[in-house]
Amino acid sequence: MIPSHVVNRPTGRETGSFLALDLGGTNFRVCEVVLDGHSGARVRQSKHTITEAQKAAPGNELFDFFADCVYNFIAENGQAALTKKYKLGFTFSFAVNQVAINKGFLILWNKGFTNSGVVGADVVALLQAAFHRKKLNIDVTALVNDTTGTLMSHAYIQPSTRVGVILGTGTNCAYVERMENVTKYTPTDTPDAKEIIINMEWGAFDDEQVVIPRNKYDVKVDRTMNVQGKYTFEKMISGMYLGEIVRFVLVDLVKTGEIFKAGASPELNKPNHFETAFMSRIERDHTLDLNDTRTVLEDMLKIPRTTLADRRLVKTLCELVGKRSARLSAAGIAAVVTKMNKLDGCTVGIDGSLFELYPHYSNRMRDALREILGISAEYVVLEQARDGSGQGAALIAALADKQ
Ligand code: ADP
Repeated sequence: MIPSHVVNRPTGRETGSFLALDLGGTNFRVCEVVLDGHSGARVRQSKHTITEAQKAAPGNELFDFFADCVYNFIAENGQAALTKKYKLGFTFSFAVNQVAINKGFLILWNKGFTNSGVVGADVVALLQAAFHRKKLNIDVTALVNDTTGTLMSHAYIQPSTRVGVILGTGTNCAYVERMENVTKYTPTDTPDAKEIIINMEWGAFDDEQVVIPRNKYDVKVDRTMNVQGKYTFEKMISGMYLGEIVRFVLVDLVKTGEIFKAGASPELNKPNHFETAFMSRIERDHTLDLNDTRTVLEDMLKIPRTTLADRRLVKTLCELVGKRSARLSAAGIAAVVTKMNKLDGCTVGIDGSLFELYPHYSNRMRDALREILGISAEYVVLEQARDGSGQGAALIAALADKQ
């Protein structure tokens, strides 16, 4: 439960041109956002993949890479643009102890990042220093979590938005809390603020108490991926982990002789070789012979020969793991909406490939919401929030000027 220091929601009338950086998990994006003052924005962006080597490099190298990307992005507007002064919102989607709108110390890495010299440091200062090394005239005015950015950008077009959720490489949620309920934050700079956005870091929910039942595959994923015992809720839900859960079950089923009797493959035994995107593809396969599932198993995972029974079993398994993910994230949303006392109506903006691309994901969430909230579920609107974090960071940078 981290106070975001964002105490204003947008009105839709914000204007101006801002830069935004977005470090999610798999991708890094640079955006230029021009807010038009009528709930609209023009966005130009460049997208870069973060390699495994970059995730493990010394922190300064990672931040120099960000500065290089920004330099090249600005240079596309001509050499003169490089000397212009910019305000920038930095979307940094990791657990940060945020002490000001533009200052925050990394608590711990997740999603596969291990860069040295960053945990415990102010990530805005690291980015600002990298810009100085590159002689860029950029002021990092806001540090933003992607959930907060998603909430803000969706609120720009849909004012009833009070919750932002990410379902991508990782998962997280931000919501609007009444200031009097927040004991760990005093709005000294904005004494009149009535509300504040809270970054829940819900991926770490249940790390200490372990209330949610875990099976042996969850335990295995927890042991083998990232920091053991941390982000255990996320490990049951998000894109980085679902495929690995399925793979662990398959490896077990091979051992017990219940699947792939013609033999498995070295690929199946390699960590992370069963991607969450494969699950999407398998769940979308409605052919009689499950031909597309065959392509995934035999061509991509190099399993020599599969029977229809094998393929059906794999499909059922994907369904179970995918459905559980959707239901757990819906349970989180139900809890947040109940806590906010907003069962009479509120919009949840949701961003991330898992929500966007995984078949039936939102329907499964809806079903679970109905089971938990009954009729009130009808007033909880789940909406796709596209590319919110760039625009959200720009909005927060714009509002930070006023804060
Ligand atoms: P990020 O969260 O890193 O900003 P995304 O929202 O694009 O970026 O999420 C990337 C994650 O989404 C990957 O970890 C991958 O597992 C998952 N993913 C990618 N394609 C699909 C797909 N077709 N179906 C389900 N999950 C997918």
